[in-house]
Amino acid sequence: MDEAESTTGTAPAFDEDLFGEAPPADAPEGNRAQAPGRARRRAASPKGPPARRVRVMLPLPIEIPNGGAYDYRIPQDAPLPETGSFVAVPLGGREMLGVVWDGEPDPNLAEGRLRDVIGVLPAPPMRPALRRFVEWVAAYTLAPPGAVLRMAMSVPSALEPAGQQAGWRLSAAGQAAQGGAPGYRMTVHRRRVLDVMEPGEPRAGAEIADEAGVSTAVLRGMAEAGLIEPALLPRPRSFPRPDPEHPGPVLREEQAESAEKLRTSVAARAYGVTLLQGVTGSGKTEVYLDAVAECLRQGRQALVLLPEIALSSQWLDRFRARFGCAPAIWHSELSGRLRRATWRAVAEGEAPVLVGARSALFLPFPDLGLIIVDEEHETAFKQEDGVIYHARDMAVVRARMAEATCVLVSATPSLETLTNAEGGRYAAVNLPRRHGSAGLPEVTVLDLRKGPPERGRFISPPLIEAITETLARGEQAMLFLNRRGYAPMTLCRACGHRIRCPNCTAWLVEHRAQRRLQCHHCGHAEPIPPFCPECGAEGSLTAIGPGVERVQEEAAVLFPDARRLVMASDTIPGPAAAAEAARQIQDRQVDLLIGTQIVAKGWHFDHLTLVGVVDADLGLAGGDLRAAERTVQLLHQVSGRAGRAESPGRVLLQSWNPEHPVMQALVSNDLPAFMAEEAEARRPGGWPPFGRLAALIVSSEEERAADRVARDLGLAAPGGEGIQVLGPAPAPLAMLRGRHRRRLLLKARRDVAVQPLLREWLSRVEVPNAVRVQVDVDPVSFL
Ligand code: ADP
Ligand code: ZN
Repeated sequence: MDEAESTTGTAPAFDEDLFGEAPPADAPEGNRAQAPGRARRRAASPKGPPARRVRVMLPLPIEIPNGGAYDYRIPQDAPLPETGSFVAVPLGGREMLGVVWDGEPDPNLAEGRLRDVIGVLPAPPMRPALRRFVEWVAAYTLAPPGAVLRMAMSVPSALEPAGQQAGWRLSAAGQAAQGGAPGYRMTVHRRRVLDVMEPGEPRAGAEIADEAGVSTAVLRGMAEAGLIEPALLPRPRSFPRPDPEHPGPVLREEQAESAEKLRTSVAARAYGVTLLQGVTGSGKTEVYLDAVAECLRQGRQALVLLPEIALSSQWLDRFRARFGCAPAIWHSELSGRLRRATWRAVAEGEAPVLVGARSALFLPFPDLGLIIVDEEHETAFKQEDGVIYHARDMAVVRARMAEATCVLVSATPSLETLTNAEGGRYAAVNLPRRHGSAGLPEVTVLDLRKGPPERGRFISPPLIEAITETLARGEQAMLFLNRRGYAPMTLCRACGHRIRCPNCTAWLVEHRAQRRLQCHHCGHAEPIPPFCPECGAEGSLTAIGPGVERVQEEAAVLFPDARRLVMASDTIPGPAAAAEAARQIQDRQVDLLIGTQIVAKGWHFDHLTLVGVVDADLGLAGGDLRAAERTVQLLHQVSGRAGRAESPGRVLLQSWNPEHPVMQALVSNDLPAFMAEEAEARRPGGWPPFGRLAALIVSSEEERAADRVARDLGLAAPGGEGIQVLGPAPAPLAMLRGRHRRRLLLKARRDVAVQPLLREWLSRVEVPNAVRVQVDVDPVSFL
């Protein structure tokens, strides 16, 4: 890679103040992110580099000097591309796509070392706000800028001209054959193809083959026979425009007041963050959809981030009811074609509203006016591999760079967000009551010490009784257990052996329906062995503990007449299955729902009045910094599914530890008091949000290599006022996917910028190729 010669360049403008002590929205311009348009000034600069040179950032996940960009030359006869343009350039022996980046090319680089830009792609240039965002995320997470850029260029085909995809259409001969004209060699397959085609309507080959149930070879044969001919596919339909004036529900007074505040913020077309807090079922969604409407009136784009877009069929229905059409959608399961069309529509400003998963933050919105982060407390917003970032925090940054409003929505906001709201850095609006006549459900703890389930069972007598009553009234009940599969562990009764994953520090989970043992960390799966792999005893293996499958088995015995449905990520494989399950529940085709956390999220079922939590203590083990906070959030959310319509709801929490503050907070429904205590527990030790954390995760297939690097990092650890390094220590998941893992944790006072410290620290330790060091700034998982 001889292009890596450039050495100078501007480092990203990193504002380490942005979190926590960020200046308020009306801060003077000087505190804002770098202003756009600096590249334009380059040409006018008297001592600037030779003209016709540009810096090009490539989507490569490697560290490159010069701020992550390479220098290239624009050929004499070609126009100078605008900064942000997507260009094709040579790199080594290949051609790559990149983005013309801001900043000065290296004037000392000899002309002979430069290679020419091959061409400019016909796509809207990447806007300054997105370029600044890419730099900011890279600087904050310590990821190479190219790795972040890669997320913003996730659909390279979208950079090519639209409408160029090739497909097939009927030829004149094909139309004749379709009409039954003789003289064409017909087979059953060819006939089926003709049946699915319409004259004058080109279609993609894969689509035709799929619908006709033939292979694409049949299409090639038909083309040779002259029955079909190649044709360009029409440009995919642009996205419908949601209508802000479409009649929506009439907001009640407290909703209207909150909505008004959000609308004012959107109309100000400036950066600002608001926490929209409100109990489950209080109508938060309708309130923020009103802000979306205002954003549409302003002619700007709106982005809604949901933690589980695949589970959001009901949300999409509500959106359609409010705006008369569906929004654009972005998640990992989109087909290639739709992905491309969506990326392009966003870039051209033709998708006014997009709802998506965290990666949607990196889409090329030319004029983003509003970002909603629904269920902002959800850990699903944290990306844990590749570029490790928290989409909720980065949404705030994205909004700032786009001069947009950001709304963080939750019934149980994270302590980070609450603290920002209390400190006045975020505005806050609150909906304290449920919509309509629905009250909040009554929460009771069932003390398992006093009334345990029968031996080998998991549903206690009082919970059985409550379910029986509920079902007898014709209402629906739900059993919640946040664990997939049948049993979390398999034990040999003869020798005490427990079956572990060969690649991870984890027990294998029994999935009885598939007769397999599975690792939930690496995906390893094996058949359930007929005898103990350790001592060879036959019939000695026993399932220990429950998963949802086992609860369902028990429920089948206890409530044989109830129509049961299990909802877990492996039984509900995708958006269509989730939508179908939701429909069945809402249509009362299900009496008893049994599910993992996927049933906790956002659903609204009118007839569900009882929620039974099988193991309320589950999330509290492990001693993670946020274990209690997260358990309260999850159990509160799952409780919120009960009694959302007229009939009152009831929640029963099975616990061995009813005095635990988490259970008490849920019973008294006093989450603010719980969070205040949580804050007071973290403040003295300087734990987040009162201090900063960054984790280093050292991993290698060679245990000794991992240990050596971990030890060296420990020895080179930074010190000083307000800085502390914990570890190295084996990670709780000491082995993951065959890699040995060690952790170090940097803890720093809030006023310490951790990124420079981390950079310096890492530069002092040599890391061999066999070892990887991941940096996790603001870690959420401590595994
Ligand atoms: P949250 O997001 O706070 O849990 P939702 O926005 O889902 O609450 O609202 C709960 C229920 O109340 C939904 O079925 C919603 O359609 C209904 N709802 C909320 N606000 C209104 C309103 N102003 N008019 C009619 N129905 C409403
Ligand atoms: Zn594993």
